[in-house]
Amino acid sequence: MSKNDTNSTPKSPATIVTHHGRNPENQFGFVNTPIVRGSTVLFDSYEQIKGNKRTYAYGRHGNPTDDAVRHVITELEHGAETLLAPSGVNAITTALLSVLSTGDDLLMCDTVYEPTRQFCDSVLQKMGITTRYYDPTIGADIEQLLQPNTRAVMTESPGSLTFEVQDLPAIAKVCAPRGISILADNSWASPIYYKPLDLGANIVIHAGTKMFAGHSDVMFGTITADEAHAQELKKTYRALGVCVSPEDSFLIGRGLRTLELRMREQGGKALAMAEWLQGHPLVETVLHPALPSHPQHQIFKRDFTGSGSLFSFILKPAGEEAIAAMVDDMNLFGMGYSWGGYESLILPVKIASQRSATTWPHEGNLIRVNIGLEGYEDLQNDLADGLERYSQMSNHKL
Ligand SMILES: *Cc1c(COP(=O)(O)O)cnc(C)c1O
Repeated sequence: MSKNDTNSTPKSPATIVTHHGRNPENQFGFVNTPIVRGSTVLFDSYEQIKGNKRTYAYGRHGNPTDDAVRHVITELEHGAETLLAPSGVNAITTALLSVLSTGDDLLMCDTVYEPTRQFCDSVLQKMGITTRYYDPTIGADIEQLLQPNTRAVMTESPGSLTFEVQDLPAIAKVCAPRGISILADNSWASPIYYKPLDLGANIVIHAGTKMFAGHSDVMFGTITADEAHAQELKKTYRALGVCVSPEDSFLIGRGLRTLELRMREQGGKALAMAEWLQGHPLVETVLHPALPSHPQHQIFKRDFTGSGSLFSFILKPAGEEAIAAMVDDMNLFGMGYSWGGYESLILPVKIASQRSATTWPHEGNLIRVNIGLEGYEDLQNDLADGLERYSQMSNHKL
């Protein structure tokens, strides 16, 4: 869209997020694509409306604010087409509906985002589509689970609570020859650090609510498809009547401008924090794929070029009162759902009830953190104080 868009040399993600998705010549010279609100688009003549000869025909079918965002994400993900959804969950459900029909079988990773599990076990089940959950570390062995009616495999790598990394190329090698579609939730690494379509996925999904937005102020989702899946995805999307508010698109477009910078800064601080926690006497295990101790670190190193702001750690076992003592009095870490904003978050999570194909082996309390843009020392001190409070309420003395 900007004059650089026609240049065919490959560009770094940092350049794509700063230069794509805007064309100042079309907007009186102003740098950013403005918010274009509207439902009706006026046509000049019968000839024009009959032949649908306007770039935009109706609000639900897109507008310049949406297109700017779609364009940036398509470029980042190396996709053919990107569509925008009102939430990450809606992006997932719309994408699943575009590849599945009655009688089909879906293989879903056991670590999947919980509301996706609910969709599969309710709506898809009612439609006569079966969902089977698989161990995310299965890799090429997924072949043993395939049935003649298996139509799609969904991955989330790493899982956003427990951070198992999936061997996507190995899964793709088994699925591609059989025409099985692979959907990948790429919210954690973002296309700055991971490109599932290049590794064999067919559709990539983002909870735009998280890193794309970056400021905890908008709900959003994106779906990017390869050439082979773009038409069916568009058909399903249109049939379902999915569309987004141009204000939300604008906020996502604005967030994308600093995505690379925020990933680098927050991801770097998160990894430093993970390394520090690994040496803490109260910490049993740190679940962060960029640590050499992580069980799938080799796959991570091969397929990812960096790591995100979100990770978890498991504390030595203690009762609920120890968790409460830790998280209730944090100074900087806020307690709440979601992640990917500029502010740090802390969340105690119970994993066992969210698994059906695998058994969660850890007894200790799992704490998930999103590392924000605060000063690193301040954050580390806040966590250290929290761990001190946890220790006081447990048998583990510091
Ligand atoms: C939050 C999240 C979603 C869902 O996004 P919403 O915008 O909250 O609907 C999907 N996948 C992952 C990995 C997430 O963290």
